[in-house]
Amino acid sequence: MSDYVYDADAIDERAFGGDAGMGHVATPGEIDISHGTILYLDDVTVSFDGFRALNKLSLAIDAGELRCIIGPNGAGKTTMMDVITGKTEPDSGKVFLGQTIDLTRMNEPEIARIGIGRKFQKPTVFEQHPVWENLELAMKTDKGWFASLRARLDRAAQARIEETLALIRLEGEARRPAGELSHGQKQRLEIGMLLMQQPALLLLDEPAAGMTDDETMQLADLLNHLRGTCSMMVVEHDMEFVAALAGEAGMVTVMAEGSVLAHGTLDTVKNDPNVIESYLGR
Ligand code: ADP
Ligand code: MG
Repeated sequence: MSDYVYDADAIDERAFGGDAGMGHVATPGEIDISHGTILYLDDVTVSFDGFRALNKLSLAIDAGELRCIIGPNGAGKTTMMDVITGKTEPDSGKVFLGQTIDLTRMNEPEIARIGIGRKFQKPTVFEQHPVWENLELAMKTDKGWFASLRARLDRAAQARIEETLALIRLEGEARRPAGELSHGQKQRLEIGMLLMQQPALLLLDEPAAGMTDDETMQLADLLNHLRGTCSMMVVEHDMEFVAALAGEAGMVTVMAEGSVLAHGTLDTVKNDPNVIESYLGR
């Protein structure tokens, strides 16, 4: 997996299960990234009892990009992910996957199937099941790929599981019940489970929360490795983690009060007076 380079056609093929047909019901080419954009939000507003959690939010993510989103608590970051994944319906605005897929017309399971994977703050793994089985189950969830849990895995699927285990660095834990893993290991396992679905876009909401410094850097390594395999949007507070993901050239979006406050390299946004006042300086 680590030797994948970003290439629009290859992403289509992976996102839509060219090889082992893992999961997706979408037809090849359904996500049109011909203009280079995987996700596009325009003027999105969400109100809760008159309070605007999102206020004319507009942003776009390039296909293959790893975008970091930062911003104070209550800025609307999680609400934005709720809108993208179909959990919350916006009052107004556009939300598109690629050029043509209007996400506001789809429900949560449809959006998951078309290739948007979401990692919530708390890890949700099958605690009683071994690590290996967690990955196996994740591959099967959407389409009943095998008739029963006991069905023998074909070699391609086994290879995928092994590849993912190596990527999330849990090769040595394959037979352990997931419940015995450390917090950081569980988080990596859950990311592995999402990867088994071959998402085109992965949304991660504060994935480093509650991790030790070592675990945080291991997670940064993993996400950096995934670059080009899928597009990613990462919401995070830990600035060292953001620095490890964004590097010098990566784009960082700062949200505040439901819209974009600043956008640019980490260095640029860190020195933006508005950002210092509303977020970093506090
Ligand atoms: P962030 O993830 O940036 O911390 P959230 O998106 O969770 O921010 O929240 C943005 C604002 O919207 C907060 O003020 C929060 O209290 C409010 N909010 C979020 N979800 C709901 C909801 N379901 N009902 C009412 N208010 C909500
Ligand atoms: Mg949040």
